[in-house]
Amino acid sequence: MITDRKETKTVQVGHAAIGGENPITVQSMTNTDTKDIYSTTVQIRELVSAGCEIVRIALYDIECVEAFRELRRAFHDTPFVGDIHFDYKIALKAIEAGIDKIRLNPGNIDADWKIHEIVKAANEKGIPIRVGANTGSINKRFQQLSKVEALVESSLEQVQILEKYGFEDIVIAVKSSCPLETIQANEQLSSKTQHPLHLGVTEAGPLRQSLIKSTIALSHLLQNGIGDTLRYSISGDPVEEVLAGHQLLMSLGLRDGVNLISCPTCARTEIDMEEYTSRVSEMIQGIKKPLTIAIMGCVVNGMGEGKHADLGIAGTKNGGVIFKKGEIFGKFNHENLFDVFEKELKKLINE
Ligand code: SF4
Repeated sequence: MITDRKETKTVQVGHAAIGGENPITVQSMTNTDTKDIYSTTVQIRELVSAGCEIVRIALYDIECVEAFRELRRAFHDTPFVGDIHFDYKIALKAIEAGIDKIRLNPGNIDADWKIHEIVKAANEKGIPIRVGANTGSINKRFQQLSKVEALVESSLEQVQILEKYGFEDIVIAVKSSCPLETIQANEQLSSKTQHPLHLGVTEAGPLRQSLIKSTIALSHLLQNGIGDTLRYSISGDPVEEVLAGHQLLMSLGLRDGVNLISCPTCARTEIDMEEYTSRVSEMIQGIKKPLTIAIMGCVVNGMGEGKHADLGIAGTKNGGVIFKKGEIFGKFNHENLFDVFEKELKKLINE
């Protein structure tokens, strides 16, 4: 059961709202070179069509900001976060170029007046700033504390630097590569602040490892009402990060979508389950309708286990059975089984 959501302030990232009672948003980050406008455009298009609601992009020098201007024109509706380190001028230019949020570590900017300049510019445009710490960026002064306390104190210190200038549009992230530390740090932080929290496990590794580590932490926190936006960090295709984020929110009942149930396969399997599940996964990607679709390898258990599905399929010797809410819709041979199923699924989606 999900505990009541922790009360947080709302910040606006372009048209996406983070915090308050707004739905939890799914973020990802491009991994193409920002200056390679063609590749970055292709990747942003893929991310957006997978359902990415906020796109982060690394602005590692001034030329990146020039590239961002072009991306801004191509994706005028997409909420963009600029990832900036060390150079306050990049932050100022990015704000001027129309970035929707910036992510920086004020501790990395070498003079107070430079931070003040960024804050003034962000305030004028109503742009939030994300601050925070991960285990690699803890301020040395906190190193005598436990890792969890150091993460929390280090990020609260950054918040104070911004608040000193009257800046309030803040999102905080505390991330460890250890899911349990990430949980504890976010729980502590959540009890000390009303700024919205960005959840994620940092350096979570390649796909399978990240899915497990991130889900352990994010699922626990979300079930306890903590977290306003999230990112799965995966060493690999960022589209997977977006798909994982949506799947998690759907599995926790925090978002509508198509629930695909499919059997684990065994010696009774009569249809190509990998092929069927991967084709159906593609078809339902990004569909926000609350439907359950079942793909089962055989009728022995398949019909029973999938009986609550809005639409289901179960393999037989000669092809398969298609069923709707437990009632048989028809029996088909291998040649036209999937075509009929696909047609019925499209109908359901578009109804
Ligand atoms: S539904 Fe049939 S094929 Fe699938 S695991 Fe169960 S018994 Fe095996």
